[in-house]
Amino acid sequence: MQKKHKILILVLLTVFVFIGSVCGVFLVKPAMELKKLKELKLKDSSTAEYLGKMPETDEIYSWIKDLTDMGARKPGTEAGKKAQEYMVEKFTSFGLDNIDVVKSDATLWTCDEWGLTVSGAEIPSYYMTHTLNDGAFGKFSTPDGGLKTEIVYVGEGSESDFKNVDVQGKIVVSDVVFSDIPVGLAKFVSYLYYDPENTLPLTSSRANPYSPNTYPYNYYRAMENGAAGFVGILSNYIDSNEFNNEDYSYLGGKMKIPALWVSRTEGANIIEVIKTAGDAAEASLKMSVQIEEVKAGAVVGYLPGKSEDIIMIQSHYDSSTTGAVEDASGSSVVLALAKFYAQIPKEERDRSLLFVAMDTHFADYVSHDAFIEKYLTKGHKILADVCIEHIANEVKEVDGEVVFTGEIEPRIIFASEIDALLDITKEEIVRHGLQRTIILPTDMLGDELPTDADPYFQIGVPIISLVSAPIYLYDNIDTIDKVSKEELRPTTEAFADIVWRLTQLPKEDFSKN
Ligand SMILES: [Zn+2]
Repeated sequence: MQKKHKILILVLLTVFVFIGSVCGVFLVKPAMELKKLKELKLKDSSTAEYLGKMPETDEIYSWIKDLTDMGARKPGTEAGKKAQEYMVEKFTSFGLDNIDVVKSDATLWTCDEWGLTVSGAEIPSYYMTHTLNDGAFGKFSTPDGGLKTEIVYVGEGSESDFKNVDVQGKIVVSDVVFSDIPVGLAKFVSYLYYDPENTLPLTSSRANPYSPNTYPYNYYRAMENGAAGFVGILSNYIDSNEFNNEDYSYLGGKMKIPALWVSRTEGANIIEVIKTAGDAAEASLKMSVQIEEVKAGAVVGYLPGKSEDIIMIQSHYDSSTTGAVEDASGSSVVLALAKFYAQIPKEERDRSLLFVAMDTHFADYVSHDAFIEKYLTKGHKILADVCIEHIANEVKEVDGEVVFTGEIEPRIIFASEIDALLDITKEEIVRHGLQRTIILPTDMLGDELPTDADPYFQIGVPIISLVSAPIYLYDNIDTIDKVSKEELRPTTEAFADIVWRLTQLPKEDFSKN
């Protein structure tokens, strides 16, 4: 054989071996594992004999309705107070012990007036939460008649976009572009990619409404460069301006200059006006906000077991909108688990359970931190935190209308890299048929988890955290129809089994990997 041919065969062999091992690692091994997982039967599950004690779908759904009927449940508002009383009343009626409201000082930001006029034409807009805030409490407004000044467009507002534009004293308009989540590619990095109906091919992706991405950095650049105000165009969002952003002061300090959101359609109109009028483009931005110090309160309920070691089960009941998916849905699954476990005799529970309803997801996580102070640094041994959020219907936009796809929004579970926790989670997800569930490494998005389990994860508590990111998560259209009603009970059943198995897992297995 000629030397050239030998080399070619060798190269080809190497390529085949490489492709073979890649396929083996990324496709064949997970497929074999999945085949085994699919053999698990519901009748063999840990809680199978107690299924009659599990709240039915309609009851779980009725709690979501009760919470969403209250309105935006921010700490310190009437709705927030009602929701807190509701969680206390539910925990009490289920028979939980040591019910506690962990109080903390929170900031309530509200806006009662806003508006935008560009070159004399009124533009529909929506307030950008947490802005016009320099850290002081009180009422703050733009000047009478609005902040009138030149308006400039800075594209996506990168550092170079700001270099050649003088924004001093002006209103800055910038595109806010959400990043794309490459859902399909998660197949190669996930611990489990459970999509039995093949609804999530490798190419599937979606816009992630959870910032930061170009935003809030473009906002902060405008502020640092002396802009008087900011208008964010929701460029790759549904055609809406009702985006209730989170508080990003942890990234760039207080959001001091006033700011408004506009939809992509209105944004295109504004850009057109600026291009035509140039330096002569003028705008008036009006905003009036109130910043108050209020009391927040996480609601805690306890169920003693044979051991004092604790498995914690949590979600958050606060919301910035009606908050059906975000997060009356997660809270109601926590209520369902509390009601279920309260009916299991103490002798049957190897460990104690702590049910926690947080209320400061939208208020700087102060209750979450107060909970850590009170429950995690004072000798309680929390072996694991199970966090449940966002049981959501998937939507898509067709001709400007938001319509349901008939599928559940893909679910992500972040689970600590502990063999036993990963095995339990995988097995119960597949056993209970929670399709479209992807278990991801905890460092997938950097050091922080984009879920309410993050504060506990950061201090070393093992976590299993369910979440999803439908595009409407922070929008006022997060109404009860967005909740995946038919998935409420299967989700509750799967997590009842996960919790049960955690109560039985040998202590040393919580740290083995
Ligand atoms: Zn949530």
